[in-house]
This record gives sequence, structure tokens and C-alpha cells, in this order.
Amino acid sequence: MAETLFRRLALLGVGLIGSSVARVAKQRGGLAGEVVASARTPRTLDRVMELGIADRVEIDPARAVADADCVMLCAPVGAFRDLAETIGPHLAPGAILTDVGSTKVSVIRDVGPFVPPDAHFVPAHPVAGTEYSGPESGFASLFDNRWTLITPLPDTDPEAVERIAELWRRCGSMVEVMEPAHHDRVLAIVSHLPHLIAFTICGTADDLADETRQEVLRFAASGFRDFTRIAASDPTMWRDIFLNNREALLEMLARFVEDAQAMARAVRWGDGRYIEDKVERGRKIRRGLIELRQA
Ligand code: NAP
Repeated sequence: MAETLFRRLALLGVGLIGSSVARVAKQRGGLAGEVVASARTPRTLDRVMELGIADRVEIDPARAVADADCVMLCAPVGAFRDLAETIGPHLAPGAILTDVGSTKVSVIRDVGPFVPPDAHFVPAHPVAGTEYSGPESGFASLFDNRWTLITPLPDTDPEAVERIAELWRRCGSMVEVMEPAHHDRVLAIVSHLPHLIAFTICGTADDLADETRQEVLRFAASGFRDFTRIAASDPTMWRDIFLNNREALLEMLARFVEDAQAMARAVRWGDGRYIEDKVERGRKIRRGLIELRQA
């Protein structure tokens, strides 16, 4: 492995994503000489120390970022504005501030104004995850063969972008640079809408009469089971994602509702051809994912 990329990496938030980056740093090396972790609660930080995945923990984010040459925001996106406001004045000259948030336009809006002129801001999003949260849930191979999308601003220093790209490559990730609004539209369809559908379908099943609900749980077929896995995700994180990608999510939802109504019409009028076509298209998409090793 080439020399260590950063001297001190500060992770603000050490749940699934932050703790996975910390584990890469510890277990694979090459990311940072020292890892400092910060979160709101002592419970999280105690757990981080027990797990041995950071060198140091700090409850105060301003202290956590002091003298760090890389700072990564790994909390829910709704917390980014306050965090950025708190740490902005304490960022070291030349430091790179980056993030892992699932939305990008809102992160640039919320964080950008607090980045001092002598620091670099490189927004990023590793498109990897599970339905689990907290520091116990992370693992070093989480990002292997997954994409990380970097959404720099037009005036972001290309060298800072390259260092963050290299950080993610060392985490096992493939990297692509994308325009922030395009990122939000793509993620709305491939991630945010599927989660919205999963939360909704579980809610619908839960609203059914008690007797039926028991049947749902007892005879849960694989389709429903897959939705419940997605719906098991962290409520705060998803509230923040939906509220911070509102326009793109509502646009994709409107398109989906139109398509679902077209399917309902086919069912009502016995249009078997239409139904078969849609199922065939779904199978093709699944096969494509398997071929790309992203299934
Ligand atoms: P998580 O497991 O729920 O962890 C969140 C972490 O942030 C915890 O350490 C939590 O600790 C801390 N935290 C919460 N609120 C905070 C605040 N106001 N200030 C400082 N720390 C705070 O979440 P995650 O799944 O790692 O997600 C983290 C970020 O990654 C989110 O922005 C999410 O959009 C993004 N992301 C998630 C996934 C995924 O599939 N999970 C994938 C890609 C990107 P305390 O509660 O002790 O503060």
C-alpha cells in the first residue's frame, strides 16, 4: 500500500458508514495515521472505543476536527448544517471537508457557507449500505466493488477531489464524478423511491385488520420479506433523506404512480401482454445488475 493518505481523519458520526470507514483505516491501513471519532452520545463513543475502531473519541465536534487534515461528515444529513456551523471556524488550514450524505444538493446548500476559504469541500456519497445502523453494524468490506459518487463544485480544488477519490478507492470502491442535481435524481429513483415504497407497503400491511396482519407475517412470501428488510432502516436517516431530496423524490414518485396506474388498468382490463412485458423488463434489469456484479 502507498503511504498513508491523511495524517488525521476525523469522522463526525460513527454509525454504519462512519464505522466502516474507521474499520478500513484500522484493518487495511493506508487511509490515516490517526482516526478521531465524534458523535452526540457518550454511549456511541464508548462503543467505538470498546470496538477499538478509532484512536480517540471526542464528544465535541470542534475538538474532533482540530488539526485534522480530513474531516468526514457521517451523521444523518439533517444534522449537517449545525455540524458545519460548529466546526467551520475550527477546520485546519488546507483541511479537506467531505461527507457521505445520501443527498448532495442539500448538503452543498447546508455545508458550503460554513467552509472557510482556506479549506476544501468535497461532497461525496458511497452508494453502499445495509438496513443496520450504529457502530456495531459497520464492516471493512462494505464499500468493496460499490460506487462512490463525488459531486465537486465548479471551484473545488482538483487535487482535493483526487485525494477523496483515492480514499474511496482504498476503501475498495469504484469512483465516479457527478453533477450534484443529477446525483439527487439518480438516487431518487434507485434508492429513495424504493425505500418510500417499502415503508409504505409495510405500513399498508400493518393497517390491515389484526387477523390479516398475522396472516401477512405468517405466510410472508419473499416479495414482502424483501420489502421488510428495506423498511428496517433507520427512521432519522430516512426522514432526513426524504426531506432533503424533496423535489427529485416527488418527481420520481409521480412517475411511479402513473406507471402503477397503467399496470392497474392492465389488470382491470385483462391486458396480459402489458403485464408480461413489464415483468420481462424487470427480469432484464435484474439480469443486467447480476452481470455488472451489483446485485
Ligand atoms: P447511523 O448508523 O444511524 O449512524 C449515524 C451516526 O451519526 C451515529 O454515530 C450517531 O451517533 C451520529 N449522529 C446522529 N446525529 C448526529 C448529530 N446531530 N451530530 C453528530 N453525530 C450524530 O447512520 P449511517 O447509516 O451510518 O448513515 C450516516 C450517513 O451516511 C447519512 O448521512 C446517510 O444518508 C449516509 N449513507 C447511508 C447509507 C446507508 O445505507 N445506511 C448509505 C450511504 C450513505 P449518536 O446517535 O450517538 O449521535
